[in-house]
Amino acid sequence: MLLASDTQLNTKSYYEASASRPALQPSLQESITADVVVIGAGFAGLTSALELAERGYSVVVLEADRICSGASGRNGGQAIAGFASGQGPYESQLGMQAASQAWGMSLEAIDLIDARIAKHSIECDRVLGYLYVADRKSKARQLEKDMRELQGKYGFESEFLSGSDVCRHIDSPLYQASAFERHSGHLHPLKYGLGLARAAIAAGVKIFEKSAVIKLDRGSSVTAHTAQGSVKASYCVLAGNYTLPEYGPQVAPELASRIMPVGTYIIGTVPIDPAIAKQLIPSNASVCDNNFVLDYFRFSADHRLLFGGRVSYTTLTPPRLEAIMKARMMQVFPQLANTPIEFVWGGFVDISMNRALDFGRLPQSPNVFYLQGFSGHGVAATGLGGKLVAEAIAGQAERFDVLAKLQHFPFPGGKSLRMPMLTLGMSWYRLRDALGW
Ligand SMILES: Cc1cc2nc3c(=O)[nH]c(=O)nc-3n(C[C@H](O)[C@H](O)[C@H](O)COP(=O)(O)OP(=O)(O)OC[C@H]3O[C@@H](n4cnc5c(N)ncnc54)[C@H](O)[C@@H]3O)c2cc1C
Repeated sequence: MLLASDTQLNTKSYYEASASRPALQPSLQESITADVVVIGAGFAGLTSALELAERGYSVVVLEADRICSGASGRNGGQAIAGFASGQGPYESQLGMQAASQAWGMSLEAIDLIDARIAKHSIECDRVLGYLYVADRKSKARQLEKDMRELQGKYGFESEFLSGSDVCRHIDSPLYQASAFERHSGHLHPLKYGLGLARAAIAAGVKIFEKSAVIKLDRGSSVTAHTAQGSVKASYCVLAGNYTLPEYGPQVAPELASRIMPVGTYIIGTVPIDPAIAKQLIPSNASVCDNNFVLDYFRFSADHRLLFGGRVSYTTLTPPRLEAIMKARMMQVFPQLANTPIEFVWGGFVDISMNRALDFGRLPQSPNVFYLQGFSGHGVAATGLGGKLVAEAIAGQAERFDVLAKLQHFPFPGGKSLRMPMLTLGMSWYRLRDALGW
């Protein structure tokens, strides 16, 4: 059964209101064959399919709902260098050389977005520029330290500002420091995802919507079964994110305990005066603070502030969501106190225990690849995953294996206790944020 609040969370999305979906792709009604069957038509599944088709493979994508109806069509649109975990797990588990390669791949992930946009003429309101902000002194010190470290270890350049200089990048009373970088940026995620789907179909990929995979037979070939059809293939890519175990509990049960769905939410204002938008964020960058439970925001192409944040570890939509988020938005930009909110939506991110990417092949089934654990940082990293999976299937697995070597552990507490334990753990981090530790 699907997370109770999931479908309803997407009904008032700015993205669904501002992108035009093509007609529904057919649902699978027969038994067919392909070289590769991909489960899930979010960014991870679509980029895998596109990369594979471009290498000459026949590919079928099975999507339980609509293309990019999951996290890929709902997110903050921020395409960010690096990983949700920071470099910590990569350095400690893989060593500096592989960590450096992983960092390079995170930058490549952003370049891949731009290459795909250019190659397939995807109109998705792409903007470059990213601003990290810190809302208290301890966080400002942390930000400076993190940026120095990225510069020292990986040569990543950013412009660090503190005190009154911060207003050069953002007109907010809240922030004590900021770091601006030009590599990351933002886009309209649903337009981008629909563009990827169009490109994949043009490259020969068959996409079936409303076709949930409920069973996967594994062996030297794999067969993915839906309610009314099946796809037999040499390889399978699991790109179902947090809903994979919900639609198909039998598909890959060994993956489910390694990720947790955590709710995150976005409000969208009515369009504001472009001159005011420019005054608030002169570079039109996306912005993100460095708290554990973070605020992330940016302007849309039609000058709405899309303000994200808040979390739910219980999967229940928080009460008074719009009011609470608007209050937080007004702390950032009191100038918008009288600006009405037109959209409120949300979704779930698939966090792994250490927030690092969880890529690999299923044990005993080396022809079944999986991409998960994007931990709220998947706009760019999904597209990298798609490329690496295609390289691996084509026989060049070195880069995929760099990331697949990362060890991951199930959330403690099993299915019934992991949620309360995570909630407890997160409360501790929130308390640390609140106390400025
Ligand atoms: C509100 C929100 C804000 C976010 N903001 C950002 C951000 O600003 N920057 C960033 O980098 N990341 C952000 N993220 C995270 C990012 O959106 C995700 O990491 C990324 O979209 C994951 O892509 P995916 O393809 O793995 O999963 P999804 O997009 O969720 O796609 C998985 C698809 O698989 C389908 N599926 C599942 N099971 C089955 C099955 N059994 N059979 C067939 N189909 C199945 C689902 O229906 C779904 O369409 C945010 C996420 C949310 C929810």
